[in-house]
Parts: sequence; C-alpha cells; structure tokens
Amino acid sequence: MTEITAPKSPVSAEQFADEIREQLKYGQGVTVEQATPADVYVAASQAVRRHLMDSWMQTQADMVNGTTKAVGYLSAEFLMGKQLRNALLNAGLTEQFDTAVESLGFNYQDVIDAEHEPGLGNGGLGRLAACFIDSLASLGVPAFGYGIQYKYGIFEQAFDKDGKQIEKPDYWLTNEEPWGHIDYNRSQKVSFGGEVVEEGGKKVWKPAWSVRAVPVDYMVPGYASGRVNTLRLWSAKSYDEFDLLTFNRSEYLDAVRPQVAAENISKILYPEDSTPQGKALRLEQQYFFVAASIHDAIRVFYPGQENPDLTTFPSKICFQLNDTHPVIGIPELMRVLIDEYGYDWDTAWGITTKTFNYTCHTLLPEALEVWPASLIGELLPRHLEIIKQINEQFEAELTSKHVDSDTIKDMAIHTGDSVRMAYLATYGGSHVNGVAELHSQLLKDVTLKNFSDVYPDKFTNVTNGVTPRRFIKLANPRLSDLITEGLGTDKWLSDLELLKGLEPLAADDEFVKKFAAVKQANKVDFSNYAKREYGFDIDPDTMVNTMVKRLHEYKRQALKILALIARYADIKNGNMSADEVMPRTVVFGAKAAPGYYLAKMTIQLINNVARVVNNDPDVKGKLSVYFPWNYNVRLAQHLIPATDLDEQISQAGKEASGTGNMKFALNGALTVGTLDGANVEIRERVGAENFFLFGMTVDEVDALYASGYSPAAFYEADPRLKQAIDMVSDGTFSNGDRNAFAPLVADWLTKDWFMTLADFHAYTEIQADIEALYAQPLEWHRKAILNVANSGYFSSDRSMEDYLERIWETGPLA
Ligand SMILES: *Cc1c(COP(=O)(O)O)cnc(C)c1O
Repeated sequence: MTEITAPKSPVSAEQFADEIREQLKYGQGVTVEQATPADVYVAASQAVRRHLMDSWMQTQADMVNGTTKAVGYLSAEFLMGKQLRNALLNAGLTEQFDTAVESLGFNYQDVIDAEHEPGLGNGGLGRLAACFIDSLASLGVPAFGYGIQYKYGIFEQAFDKDGKQIEKPDYWLTNEEPWGHIDYNRSQKVSFGGEVVEEGGKKVWKPAWSVRAVPVDYMVPGYASGRVNTLRLWSAKSYDEFDLLTFNRSEYLDAVRPQVAAENISKILYPEDSTPQGKALRLEQQYFFVAASIHDAIRVFYPGQENPDLTTFPSKICFQLNDTHPVIGIPELMRVLIDEYGYDWDTAWGITTKTFNYTCHTLLPEALEVWPASLIGELLPRHLEIIKQINEQFEAELTSKHVDSDTIKDMAIHTGDSVRMAYLATYGGSHVNGVAELHSQLLKDVTLKNFSDVYPDKFTNVTNGVTPRRFIKLANPRLSDLITEGLGTDKWLSDLELLKGLEPLAADDEFVKKFAAVKQANKVDFSNYAKREYGFDIDPDTMVNTMVKRLHEYKRQALKILALIARYADIKNGNMSADEVMPRTVVFGAKAAPGYYLAKMTIQLINNVARVVNNDPDVKGKLSVYFPWNYNVRLAQHLIPATDLDEQISQAGKEASGTGNMKFALNGALTVGTLDGANVEIRERVGAENFFLFGMTVDEVDALYASGYSPAAFYEADPRLKQAIDMVSDGTFSNGDRNAFAPLVADWLTKDWFMTLADFHAYTEIQADIEALYAQPLEWHRKAILNVANSGYFSSDRSMEDYLERIWETGPLA
C-alpha cells in the first residue's frame, strides 16, 4: 500500500467549478460562455487564494501574538515562477482543479499556460530566495519575503536573424495579475536627499523628496504545514500625483514629472552587472525596499504602539541580507532607532547587530558592491554620517584587538569615496555565510580573510537547496509518481532525505527500466513543447545534453561550445566513424546582461553554430544544437526532467554554489562538472563513480595563474582546440565573415581569464567515458537513480533548517 500524505482539500471538483464560475461572474464580470482561458486562470487563482485565506490570516495572527521569532528575507530578487500549480498543490486542489476546469469546457493546460511568469530576478540568486520562502512556509516558520515589485522584471530575450540577443521589456503587469494584493492602506513613506541639521543637540534629517512604498502581498503557501506566509513586494507611487498649478498652466508633462520620477524607483530590475549610469537609481531601489520593510516590521510587531520597546526587536524578527543589495538596512535601522525612537548609539548598535545576518553569494571581487560615499551622501546624507561613525567604531575596535594598521586600512568600511557594502554587512550583523562548503571556505581564506581572522565565530556555511515541490513534483510528475511508488509513500516531498530509500532499487532492473521510461516520456514531452513553443525538431531518441544558466564567462559556456565545434569537426572530417558517434542533442539556455559584450557575443556564436550544425547533412542525426530563448523558471521546469546529461563546468573557485546542478541531480540527470561550488558536495553524496568530474581544482587554477597563464600555449598544443578556435575565426559560423567573432577569439587567445583553454583537453577526454556509459542504458539509469537517491540533502528545506539552527535561532510556529 502506498501512503499518500499530500494535502487534499475536502472541496469537491463540482464545488470548485462553482467557485470558479462565481469568481468569473463577480470578479471578472463574465459568464462561463464568454470566458477565455485567461479569465479562467484569473478566476481559478482567485478561488485558490480564498481557500488559503484563513491559513494566511491565522499564520499572521500566530506570528504577531506568539513568541516565535520571524525571519525577514530581504532580497532584491524573487524569481517565483508560475504560481497557480504550486498554490493548487499546497491547497490540495490539484485534482479538483483539473476536473473542474474541464467540466467548465476548458482544457486545463490552456488555463495553466495563460499564466505569465513574473521575471523578478536575474537567475540563481532570485530563484534561491523563492525556494527559501517556499521552504520556510512548508516548515511552518513565520517569515516574510521582502523585495520589490518591479514593473518590468528581467527582459524578455529574443534572437535576431543573426543570432544576436535582443532584449524586450516584459510587460508582465499589463494583464490582470491575481496573486498580488495591493494594500494601499499599509504603505510606508520613504525619503531621499536633502540635508542633516542639528536641532537641540540632535541630528535631524530634512529630506528633499519622498515616495510612497505600497506593499503588494503574495501568499506563500507551505506544503502540508497549514501555514501561509507573505511575500511583500514594494511598489513605488508618487505623493505628488499632480501639480495642479502647473497643470492649470497646461504644462501637462511637467505636472506629472515628479510622479514619473518617483515611480521609476520600482520600474525595472537591473541586469546583474549594471552600468554606472543606473547606479543612483539602483541605490534608491535598495534603500526604498529595505526602509519600507524595516518600518513595516515595526508596524507588524508593535501594532498601534507609539513608543514600542524596540530592544525586543531582535526577538521578533531577524533580517537575512540576501547578498549586499539590502545592506543599507544596517545604517537605516540605526537611524530609525536613534533618530525616530531616541535610543542611544550603543543600544541601537546592539539591536542592529542582533537583527541582521548576511549571505555572501560570490567570490568575484567585482560583484561585491561598493558605493561611492558621495552618492550615498547625496541620496542619504544621514546614513552616510552613520556609516562613518560605524567605521570609526570599527577601526577603534580593531585597534583594541591589536590588528595592525595596514590591515585596518584594508578592512575599512568607508575609505576615500568608497563604502564597501560586504564589509559593512560583515561587521554590522551577527553571521556571515557562504552558500556551499567550498565557497564558505574560500570566503574565510580569501575574500573576507581579514574579517574571518578577527571574527572567526561569525562565519558559517549553509549549502543552498531547491524546493522539491516545484522542481520535482510540479516539474516532473512522472518521476514523482515513480518515487512514491518505489518508496511506498509520498512523504519524501517534505522530507527529501527519504529519497535514500531508492538506493537499493538501482539494483532492481525492473525499477531501472521504469525509471528509464519516465525519462524517455519526459524527453518526448519536451520535444513536443519545444516544437510548439520554439518550432524545434528535437529527436527524443538522442542524448539530451543541457547547459542552462545565466551567460557568464566564469560559467564557461565557451568551453561547451568549443568542445561542440571540435566534435562537429571530428564527425565532418571523418575522424570518427558513424557508429562511434553517440547521437546528441545539445540544448543551451541563457540570458546575458545587456551590457556584457563578450557574453552577448557568445550567445551569437552558439546560435550560429546551431544554424550551421543543424543544417549540415554530414552530421544529421548525430549532433544537433538548440538554444530556446528566454530561459526562465518555466523553461527550467520543462527541460530539466528531460535532460540526460547536464553541464556544471565553471572554473573551479568561481561558482559560489549553483542550484541548477541540484535540480538536475534530483531529476535523474548525470552531471559533467568541475570541482566547484556545490558540485563538490553533490559528487561526495552521489558518489564519485556517478559523476563525471574533469578539470583543474582551485589549487591548480591558482598555481597556473601564479606561473603566468598563457592560453595561446594551450591553443598551440592541442590540434583539436586549435581547429575549433580557427573555425570560429575563419568564418565557418559567420558566412565567411572573419571578423564576426574576432573579439571573442582575441580574448580566448590572449586573456582567457577563466581558463577555458586550459580545461579544454580534460573536458573533451571525459566525453568518451560519458558516451561509453550512455551506450549501456541500464547502467546509465542506475547511476541516475543513485543521483536522485543521494541528493535529498539538496532540498531547500534542509537549507532552511541549517539557517534556523546556525543563524536565525528560531523555528516553526507552535
Ligand atoms: C535554478 C535556476 C537558475 C540557477 O542556475 P545555475 O545553474 O545554478 O546558475 C537560473 N535561472 C533559473 C530560471 C533557474 O531555475
């Protein structure tokens, strides 16, 4: 007997159909006959929200009235993915929905497809925040996600006829959006600019302008916890809606100008490596959402109190700083406590440092934010004063700890015109964590070494995770059913370590065949999806080999494309006989930041290699390359379950963790990867024999840098590499144009900062092992099952438990 514990609402399909019908009528004002799938999507979403409403209110009440500390997850990005399916799962209404919608005369897939994914994140960091709030709700821990409701999230990617990326605004809010509840009555005022004056011995900030931060609340339903938390995203509205005087002089544009300026604050999500011109607006955004969130937390936890005892604040809520983006919250809380509530500096500092913790997400020094002090001074003059005072206190503290003066200089939070946000976060909070073991170690040894020497106890690791609800249950229903059948229970969905129970089944040929059949069916599904959405003709009987993630040099899409070109040349030149060639379909997915020249050129190269390879009869049926545009959560959910082999090939020491790697392992793909980020831990758990490891280690990378890395030497030494690069420069992929990719080639041959060329040989060598295994389907799938069985650790539920224990010191509501 299989034990089923998934939530199931007592509401029948007929009742749910009635609720949708009612919502169509009273919400949208249309009859079932008039309704479109988009109408039904909105109505069904509203109906699910109503089912979750009691739990949502109860969770808030228990949080405010109880004694369990809440978590405030401050993040500039939340890459939520589509909401409806997830909400139905957690409300226990999935089956009723499918039947109800069909009974109303709609195809449920059309209704699901009517939902447009909000792109409120760039990639891994934003998706991590979404997984974390899902897990907190599922664990029953009271929590807020706090961020920004960008009017335009991440751009929508398209490719032009030359294969270049074009960025189109994503008008995701132009259609009715049933999930976000705009709560004008709980808005917060956020101010900027102006000056600080002394009044009666006190510092008083006289800002120049203010915006209204309006909360838009999203329910975050837990799985099988009965709890529903809140994702509160702030939207900027103007106070000066209309300057009537100007308007009367019929200067209409001038009249609405202040409104436009204010509302710009939540207009767009910045592409990761932004250009300097967006800097001021970006800092405004950061302060905007953090200031609103801090005031909101005070409002929530001290309702109606004029003189709250904020010394208890750290026992009500702790704020997690997701990367440096929200770090301005540290001086902001200091300012609120001192200027608004009259606490002395030391008391305020005690409260602040107990409230904040910081997660560092990178090792690339350029990704650690440094703000010009002059810019902070202009936008937030009082905060700059506070930052300076924090820095003075910090230097005094370091001196008293006998840190030498050069090191103190190196550690300065504020120096010259720079304010180093990572340092402010490290000093101003209780804990700092990296996001995988290797990454946390490198933070201590390299990036934040001085801080770790002085404050060793602050440093800890929490390895990232992903939610099994979205990335297994929703993305891969066939595998979910097979896992449940194999384990005899569906409890693994809230206790993912139970997957370990699948391990013995890897030796059971019958189970392995079922597992293989699931993968095959998923590949057929993906092939159909890719045909429908992109017009691709993917052969599901080939190995599906996927590399999806943001496009960045350190992630080394270039390594994959060069190896692919070498393979293409091998087949074409007859270096491999036809039966030596394992047919492969390579799928890329990646957005490049709009200003990132080499990344965009790499996209163009991939598209052109795809064009040439897919149209070459010499390699037909053996090698094909597809690049579905606009990689997002939706595409991830379709592609990951259909993947045989996934690529995690960053240069060792550069990928903080990766979470794509976890999603793939949990969906039964085998990974080819370097010893980087969470790959290290994945390989440790799934077993070295079930992971295709290649390439240099962190130490080898460091040694090669130290000895003077010369990529040209690698080019000269490896004829296959040389040929692949020569094909890029000789116009093979650019209709004879030899200049098309010249900057890319020049970078590879003279700089190659991430040592793509140095790892090329090892990477091409390991392909033989991969193909030898793939030629034995049972053995391949046995290893894939062992990947699934041993990846339970990479649930974001486990990540949350680690945060609760090591950092937040709180737990579920009673
Ligand atoms: C998981 C995920 C990522 C992160 O992928 P990495 O391979 O870890 O960089 C990025 N984008 C989307 C849409 C994801 O789902």
